[in-house]
Amino acid sequence: MRSGQCLCGACTYEIDGEPIVVAHCHCLNCQRGSGAGHTTGAMFAEADVRLSGAVSSYAMPSAAGNTVTRRFCGTCGSPMLASNTGMPGFVTVPLGTMQAPDCLEPQVVVFARSRRLWDCMDDRLQTYDAQPDWKPSDGI
Ligand SMILES: [Zn+2]
Ligand SMILES: [Zn+2]
Repeated sequence: MRSGQCLCGACTYEIDGEPIVVAHCHCLNCQRGSGAGHTTGAMFAEADVRLSGAVSSYAMPSAAGNTVTRRFCGTCGSPMLASNTGMPGFVTVPLGTMQAPDCLEPQVVVFARSRRLWDCMDDRLQTYDAQPDWKPSDGI
């Protein structure tokens, strides 16, 4: 079982099961939402993730016309979970909030077209200009 928490500790989560994919995302929403050049998240089946604590959320449309909902600690603002109506039943958990972040390794880079010049990535990773036409059921 994996677990994690926000910066202040008010929000915690537990996860059973293995991630479907672990990705770096350079999209502009991830840049604004994180304040950094990209986010790094692991996608899990929503049923495998139990989030507790006083979570706030913010929903906005994605470029593809879906709704992306970001849930974050209402006290310290740490990102906790993100979900996308284009991928129902799955949530993405930011690696940096996990208790043992090194036990997962990113596999892909998405939205590389928005990558900042100063945000250098491992070019051995499979890299996509935008969001690949991929569904969780496809696997890696
Ligand atoms: Zn917090
Ligand atoms: Zn993104």
